[in-house]
Amino acid sequence: MDSIAKAHVFGGQVKVVAFKTTDLVNEAISLHSLSPLAAEALGKVLTMGAYMSNELKGEKEKLSVHISDKGLLGSIIVAADAGGLVRGYVEHPDASLPPLGNGKQNLFEGIGSDGFITVIKDLGLKEPYVGKTELVRGNLEEDFAWYFTRSEGAPTALALSVQIGEDGKCESAGGVLVQPMPNCPDHILVIVEDIVSNFANIGDVLKVKEPSDILKDYFGHFEIEYFPESHPEYRCKCSREQMSNAVIALGRGDSVNLLMERGEIEVVCHFCGKKYVFNKQDVIDIWRRYDHKL
Ligand SMILES: [Zn+2]
Repeated sequence: MDSIAKAHVFGGQVKVVAFKTTDLVNEAISLHSLSPLAAEALGKVLTMGAYMSNELKGEKEKLSVHISDKGLLGSIIVAADAGGLVRGYVEHPDASLPPLGNGKQNLFEGIGSDGFITVIKDLGLKEPYVGKTELVRGNLEEDFAWYFTRSEGAPTALALSVQIGEDGKCESAGGVLVQPMPNCPDHILVIVEDIVSNFANIGDVLKVKEPSDILKDYFGHFEIEYFPESHPEYRCKCSREQMSNAVIALGRGDSVNLLMERGEIEVVCHFCGKKYVFNKQDVIDIWRRYDHKL
């Protein structure tokens, strides 16, 4: 089962989070028929979406992550609700490149290194929080570490891995994130750096250890305080009402033309693939409600 384990170590001076998202990535692979390249890329963004949404404080808070479309894969979009409930899609799910070997895909060319990570958080305030940083390496691991460091002001060490097997399924996905608090003393930073160097092969570690074991084994003897574990999930919240906005987005003229042509309008949710069919009466009702609201 996927899980996110979190703790404070060194008397609250350092936050450590370990996460496993293998099931989540496999759900995305089967929903979107992802190529191995797309699976590693979307899998990593889903994993970070799960981590970030798990950090949200309020139940109704939500966020989205957008990786811009400079590489072969096009845009990658992930949306998440508080508690690690995520969904996402990639513009070109079948894009493919020769793998780099060692179970790794060529994300550098798949994503490109001249785009951006944009994170929008709806924290229930008047304006959403928007954070944006450039992609520095195109491997998503260093790119998200840079995003947290630069945009959220939280210097971050991040190990992130999605390993896809020869059968196209995800063998292991997840990572470890370490954030020293401001004013964390240098001698603690040195110890933390040393521990983090163990996670270069986090994908292999996650095949044999659960996130809670990773925290216990690597950080358990440094004044550790555990937080309750949580379980991220692939979950789409699309609804008929929300998808009826796609009919409005078509415009009155085009929606009528499409109805005449096909007898109904079919809208497919990008995130989960669910189909919504609107017949003539539905479309009349949608526009009537729209006019009523104006
Ligand atoms: Zn959906």
